[in-house]
Amino acid sequence: MAAFLASVCLFCGARPGIDPDHAQIARDTGRMLADRQWRLVYGAGDIGLMGEAARAAQAAGGQTLGVIPAHLMRREQARQTVTTLIVTETMHERKKVMFTNYDAVVVLPGGAGTLDEFFEVLTWAQIGLHQKPIMLLDAGGFWQPLSALIDHVIAQGFAEPDLRNLFSTVPDVPALAEALNRRLPPHR
Ligand code: AMP
Repeated sequence: MAAFLASVCLFCGARPGIDPDHAQIARDTGRMLADRQWRLVYGAGDIGLMGEAARAAQAAGGQTLGVIPAHLMRREQARQTVTTLIVTETMHERKKVMFTNYDAVVVLPGGAGTLDEFFEVLTWAQIGLHQKPIMLLDAGGFWQPLSALIDHVIAQGFAEPDLRNLFSTVPDVPALAEALNRRLPPHR
């Protein structure tokens, strides 16, 4: 089994969304991670964009770590073929196990769960708990409303302008690969 150089966590929808481009981007991301020998860390579901990314990463020979709470195994169709599957008791434990196992976060289109995961890791950076890179993949401008909301919060004096520097926004998968390459440790 090939070793991996670093681990990249993917936060993304448990649904595919209405735009088929999003599923393609999830597949391209999974394949890109595998090609670079970066392990995919994710929520272990075999559904939505999560499933697309994991299947593509595995098909390309990549390593995958899936972390899922027991009560979601059926609902999110836990993928049994990931390289490593960790079953937790709670959602909080899931996020903690993921956090201790990744070097960077990538956020693809998703819903409330994805936003929750993004804001948690962003707020942890804001209070200095970590310096792991956080990257929004803004393909097709999907995250523009989120970006506008963050600008609004800063403009209204509820966050330091520095909040913007705690995450980066990339337009496509090649730009994501380059940005990760610059920020990831060379070896784990
Ligand atoms: P969504 O973006 O709503 O499709 O959710 C994406 C993923 O986030 C799913 O695997 C959800 O189970 C997960 N998720 C949602 N809320 C939480 C939470 N509070 N802690 C951990 N995972 C969550």
